[in-house]
Amino acid sequence: MTEWKNGVAKIIIPTPFAVGDVNIYVIKGEVLTLVDVGPKTDEAWQAVTDQLKELGLRTSDIDQVVLTHHHPDHAGLLDYFPASLPVYGHPLNNRWLSPTEHFLAENDQFFIKAFQEFGIPKDYWRLAGAIKKDLKYSCNRLLTGFLVEGDTPIGLSDWQVIETPGHAQSHIGLYREKDHCYIGGDHLIAHVSPNPILEPPISGELDRPKPLLQYIASLKKLLEIPMSLVYSGHGEEILHKNELIHKRLSQQHERSEKVKKMLEKEPLTIFEACQLLFPKVYERQLSLTMSETVGQFDYLMAQGAIVSTNENGVWRYTTK
Ligand SMILES: [Zn+2]
Repeated sequence: MTEWKNGVAKIIIPTPFAVGDVNIYVIKGEVLTLVDVGPKTDEAWQAVTDQLKELGLRTSDIDQVVLTHHHPDHAGLLDYFPASLPVYGHPLNNRWLSPTEHFLAENDQFFIKAFQEFGIPKDYWRLAGAIKKDLKYSCNRLLTGFLVEGDTPIGLSDWQVIETPGHAQSHIGLYREKDHCYIGGDHLIAHVSPNPILEPPISGELDRPKPLLQYIASLKKLLEIPMSLVYSGHGEEILHKNELIHKRLSQQHERSEKVKKMLEKEPLTIFEACQLLFPKVYERQLSLTMSETVGQFDYLMAQGAIVSTNENGVWRYTTK
């Protein structure tokens, strides 16, 4: 049963993705706000409608939407809401929510070059092109307005935006200081560590973002902010946020140590390391397992623990 708790209600929505259900939230502020909406499916729309009804609300009562990030399981259902409904989020949502031909072409070029550099054989490239498939569950929208670090959204005077890039470049959370309540999107998930998903460079920049390094920095940033209740994008609420963050940071360090040990034995490309790390799933989940693997290499490079050499456009890594 969906119910209010200090002006926040959690709604659980089914998704067609491996991640399972997604959580979205209603906030009763000066205006009625939905934080995230779910994927673009009839089942998701039905779930939103039914659970709003349990709160005595209809979808038409929603005054505005705030997005924690652009992923289809969080944003896709916007297409089912009226085009006039205001939608707010980080500026970097727009390139995914309403992708231009130019951006999609740039995105393709970025990944083709990256796949070459990672040493992925051409036969596998089609497996990595999962983004296009996922766009089916996404929406076609432009944000009404932007939210960045420290902003207070219109009609939510108790809440403040905290930027937490890593899982997505567009990722933010909403923080209510008076009771230390946080709606954190996918940055903190109780039962799983979120994937540091690769995205092409931000417009005007040459290098791609390093999502695992950003994710770690965002985790450390949250350590400093008191939070007694974290509402997550998937799964259960988190009551002991710092405990979870320390667990995620040490798990991450262990994973990178494993990769470092592999590279002590022999020089590897990122794809070769991915095959060794995820022998059972790398073919089926190439994009996600490659994102994970690239993250470990970014981490070890940033620590100065490994060095790279380029052979015919392919990077190979080894410990010093
Ligand atoms: Zn996500």
